[in-house]
Amino acid sequence: MQGQKELEILGATLEKLQRNFGYPIHETDINYNSLEKVLSDVANKMGDNYPYFDPNYAGQMLKPPHPIARMAYTLAMHINPNNHALDGGRASSAMEKEAVADIAKMFGWDEHIGHLTGGGTMANMEALWIARKIHPDKIVVASEMAHYTHERISEVVGLGFSKVSCDQLGRMDLEALEDLLKTKNVGTVVATLGTTGTGSVDPLTKILALQKKYHFRIHVDAAYGGYFKLAENLDPETADQYANIHHADSIVIDPHKHGLQPYGCGCIIFKDALVGGYYQHDSPYTYFSSAELHLGEISLECSRAGAAAVALWATMKYFPIIPKGEFAQGLEKCHEAALKLYNLIENDETSISLFKPEIDIVVWAPKGDSLSSISNKSSDVFEKAAKKGVHLALIKIPVKLLSSSWNDVEKDQDYVTCLRSCLMKHEHFDWVDHIWKTIKDVSH
Ligand SMILES: *Cc1c(COP(=O)(O)O)cnc(C)c1O
Repeated sequence: MQGQKELEILGATLEKLQRNFGYPIHETDINYNSLEKVLSDVANKMGDNYPYFDPNYAGQMLKPPHPIARMAYTLAMHINPNNHALDGGRASSAMEKEAVADIAKMFGWDEHIGHLTGGGTMANMEALWIARKIHPDKIVVASEMAHYTHERISEVVGLGFSKVSCDQLGRMDLEALEDLLKTKNVGTVVATLGTTGTGSVDPLTKILALQKKYHFRIHVDAAYGGYFKLAENLDPETADQYANIHHADSIVIDPHKHGLQPYGCGCIIFKDALVGGYYQHDSPYTYFSSAELHLGEISLECSRAGAAAVALWATMKYFPIIPKGEFAQGLEKCHEAALKLYNLIENDETSISLFKPEIDIVVWAPKGDSLSSISNKSSDVFEKAAKKGVHLALIKIPVKLLSSSWNDVEKDQDYVTCLRSCLMKHEHFDWVDHIWKTIKDVSH
């Protein structure tokens, strides 16, 4: 059993951890019989899930954490440090700082201020909260394909929000952006590098050119796509956006998406360390034994799992986030898997794609006479493939994103439901043919 080796290593390292303290970490007064009963209930209940870990699961943005992350998290959880302050999690706070500095370096920042968060939403919220501190009367704009939470977050932090139209590659339309810059008081442009729906990469380089003329902050939401900075096989145009990411004012990346981490691990980094000044708070019960800046002093959230930082640190030791490293190669494989699936779709008479994947998300549909019939067919394939153990996702694409290859299709509704696949596991590359065969088998 694969888990057996993990448990052995965990047992040995747990003993080692315990020796640091000289007395047992564990409670002794446990009724293991009833504990085991409850835990087997848990095992039964958890069977009611899709097999996210399986290479035939190629639907939503889900993948299992790497064993190193799972084990480091478990080990750290025996101490249960809290990274809201250095004293609440001494070792884990130090590890968080190291891990976050390495992420900042990956994006090209030798200096930064930032920390981990519960997830991408909290991380984006922090970015827009700072945006509000800097431009209290100006609005936030993000593309119509940006994550839906940007609009909500703007509402929460009390900023106006406008959507920018997208082009037919699902990227922010620059003319639409410039129109907004001319007519509205825009304080922050959110550029998404890897949209959640289609994996499109906004034209950051040209947004930076507009910044020179119109002066606004740029927040890069790379919650999903951030790690593709390391991939060296992207289209030159896509790679160019990643190459300019260091010009942004703030960046969000989710280690719990492509960073092999369990949920509860997002990250926000700011280029300008002076941003730290906006976080000042005066809590009578913060820990004062350290002169260093507490992570809790530069974070909106208070309590946070130190174990999440430990897991990330350990994963980054095991898989350094450097170009050409094993981790980078895994991402390149994901992109290749997406291109492989895209080519199968392009060469198939009965399928139609949305556009070529920029990273690892593919969107397509079975051909049909009208948008409604295509939508029905997509849903049908989605359900039938799942019964055969191949799990895809569905996405509603607005008509205006459809390119000329969709010209012959009757536009009897204003959106079309397509199939969507996030090929987030490097194993997907070897499984694409099987996945595609299953899809073809259930299509008619
Ligand atoms: C997933 C995602 C988010 C939200 O992050 P959570 O970790 O789910 O809170 C924000 N932006 C993008 C682009 C995402 O893909």
